[in-house]
Amino acid sequence: MRLLVTGGCGFIGSNFLRYILRHFSTEMVSNVDALTYAGSLTNTEGLAGEYGDRYEFYKADIASADQIDALMSKHQFYAVINFAAESHVDRSISSPLNFVHTNIVGTQVLLEAARRHGVRRFVQVSTDEVYGSLGAEGGVFTEDSPLAPSSPYSASKTGADLLALSYFHTFGQEVVITRCTNNYGPWQHPEKLIPRMIICALRERRLPVYADGQNVRDWIHVEDHCAAINAALLNGKPGEVYNLGSRNEWKNLDLVHLILDHLGKSRDLIEFVPDRPGHDLRYAIDPAKAENDLKWKTLFPFEQAIRDTIDWYVANRAWWEPLESADRPAT
Ligand code: NAD
Repeated sequence: MRLLVTGGCGFIGSNFLRYILRHFSTEMVSNVDALTYAGSLTNTEGLAGEYGDRYEFYKADIASADQIDALMSKHQFYAVINFAAESHVDRSISSPLNFVHTNIVGTQVLLEAARRHGVRRFVQVSTDEVYGSLGAEGGVFTEDSPLAPSSPYSASKTGADLLALSYFHTFGQEVVITRCTNNYGPWQHPEKLIPRMIICALRERRLPVYADGQNVRDWIHVEDHCAAINAALLNGKPGEVYNLGSRNEWKNLDLVHLILDHLGKSRDLIEFVPDRPGHDLRYAIDPAKAENDLKWKTLFPFEQAIRDTIDWYVANRAWWEPLESADRPAT
C-alpha cells in the first residue's frame, strides 16, 4: 500500500508519519509539503534515515495541479491523507486568501488528481470548528450538527469538506472525513495555545489569554488523533464523516493554570488581552460514531499526557526556539 500524506512536515502530519511508519509495515509513504512557515524538515528529522526504504519527501504545493499531477503520474497511490492546510485562526483573520488557496483550492486539486489517477481512498483531515460554537451550558456536536463556521479558517475547512463529499456523491471517490477537536503533543508550532503558553512561561514573559479565558476546548492527544485517522483510512465508510474527540473539556484559563503550576511559575504572569473577533466560545464533540464504527478509542490519559507534553517542550528548546515568533497573539 502506497500512501500520499500531505502536510507531513506540520504538527499532526509529522506525528502521523511517525505513527504509521513505526506501527505498520506500509510499503511506502510519500510526504508532500510546501514547507510554509508552519512546516519544518526538523519535524521529520530521522525518518529518512530510520525508514529510508519506506519514506520519501517531496517539496510541493498541493494547490499546484502540475506538481500534484507529476507526482501521481510517477506513483500509483492507494490513498491520499490530506493534512496540508493553513491552520492558524488568527492568521486567517489577517490573511484569509492563503486559507482559500491551500485549504480549498489545494483540496480541490488533490481530489481531482486522485480521481483522474485512480487513487482509491481519500481521507480529508478536518476540524470540529466547521460546526461553529456551542453555548457554555452544554451540548455536543454530532456528525448531524449544522455547519456554521465562524472564522475564515473554519469556513475554508468547511468548503474543503463539502468539495470532498461532492467527489464521493458525483464520482464515487472513496472519501472519508474526520473532524477532530484541539490536539496537543510534541512538534506543535509555537504560535498555538499550549506551546505558546509553555514558552512564555519558560521565558518568564506575560502569557496572553483572550478575554476572560472562559473559552472551552476539548483536548485530545495528537497520537490518539493519528490512530483515528488510520482507522478511518482502513475502516471508514466512503462518504461518511467521523467526529473525533476525547470528552476532555477545559477552559483556556484552567489549562494555562495547569501549565504554570506544572512549571512552578506564578499565575501572575497571565495577561488578559482583548478577545479574538468571532471567537468561538465552546467546542465539544461526541465521538461515539468513530468509537463504534472505526473500533477506535483514545488511549492517552490527559492528566499525565499534558504533563509529558509540557516536559517535551522544556527538553526540546533547540527545536522550538528557531520557530518562535514573539508577535503572535494567543489562540
Ligand atoms: P500545521 O499548520 O502544523 O501544519 C500544516 C502543514 O501543511 C505544514 O507542514 C505546512 O508547511 C503544510 N502546508 C501548508 N500549505 C501547504 C500547501 N499549499 N501545500 C503543501 N503543504 C502545505 O497544522 P496541523 O495543526 O498539523 O493541522 C493539520 C491538519 O489537521 C489541518 O488540516 C487542520 O485543519 C487539521 N486539524 C488540526 C487540529 C489541531 O488541533 N491542530 C485539530 C483538528 C484538525
